[in-house]
Amino acid sequence: MSSVTVCARFRPLNSKERRDHGDSPSCIQSVDSENFIFKDGKEEESMFCFDRVFYQESLQSDVYDFLARPIIQDVVNAISGTIITYGQTGAGKTYSMEGPSILENKDQNKGLLPRVVEGLFECLKLDDETIKYTVKLSMVEIYMEKVRDLLDLSKDNLQIKECKVLGVFLSGVTEISITDAAEALVHLSNGISNRTVGETQMNMESSRSHCAYIFTVQQESVRDTRLKTGKLILLDLAGSEKIEKTGAEGKILEEAKTINKSLSALGNVINALTDDSPGRVNHIPYRDSKITRILRDALGGPSRTALLLCCSPSPSNAAESLSTLRFGTRAK
Ligand code: ADP
Ligand code: MG
Repeated sequence: MSSVTVCARFRPLNSKERRDHGDSPSCIQSVDSENFIFKDGKEEESMFCFDRVFYQESLQSDVYDFLARPIIQDVVNAISGTIITYGQTGAGKTYSMEGPSILENKDQNKGLLPRVVEGLFECLKLDDETIKYTVKLSMVEIYMEKVRDLLDLSKDNLQIKECKVLGVFLSGVTEISITDAAEALVHLSNGISNRTVGETQMNMESSRSHCAYIFTVQQESVRDTRLKTGKLILLDLAGSEKIEKTGAEGKILEEAKTINKSLSALGNVINALTDDSPGRVNHIPYRDSKITRILRDALGGPSRTALLLCCSPSPSNAAESLSTLRFGTRAK
């Protein structure tokens, strides 16, 4: 069975939430680092238990240490991994992934991505002359089930292919070889700004698309030229919020349906991976969406997955937070 770590993170209240409900009200009553009580003032109180809960005052480094560090150590040993941020728009997915700015690598608030690239290059045994390492970066955005290359915007409809030797791959995707963390950050930053360019061209918002950061770590033994590959995928998902069916029409409704479908496909894959009930069918429904197809090698098998459920602590967002937490509970 695959290992899936599920954590919840509550960002601090924002100014609108403070205006609406004052400084103190929050839906969360902490119990300990794994358990909390969620109260929305209407429904019954519910108790949640996850591998770790990051409360409002938690640090970016806490999230990295618990969730990403173990995965990086595996990737360097050719075991693939995935780190996913899930939650409604504005809940802190991108903040957790990138931090306030991707290039500010001195910033204490820097997110998972800059920490991951630093951690990765620290873990590689670069002084070992018997191994030759290659680290490659690709960045893609998935909008309306179309995969776009964020490192080369002219490639706007990449196809996902599978083969025995390479596993799953994006045909023709730009792969940039990176030799250190600083270089990786420059490319990540370019890709992230390309995301904004695409948004304007397509008249969409980044909250309606998924963004995948794909690191491929290859090690070749100098003695016998044996090749080992580990893939690390960080996935910043589209907002999970429900769109009012009655109000939405046309493009907005189509977007909402597509996002819903892909998020539930992801949920189904994670459920199937963690289901150890006796009569379970061993079918993992990867093929149901582009994101689950792309994740295939890095999700399931011996790989490790971490899911970060991002939530607002405010009663104004209680319904969406509950739905996010329930998604995580099903993934356990
Ligand atoms: P999402 O990507 O889920 O739509 P963002 O990450 O963009 O949400 O967060 C929305 C806003 O909340 C941003 O202005 C972000 O800086 C802020 N924010 C999110 N999480 C935190 C946090 N843990 N600490 C401080 N500010 C946060
Ligand atoms: Mg975001």
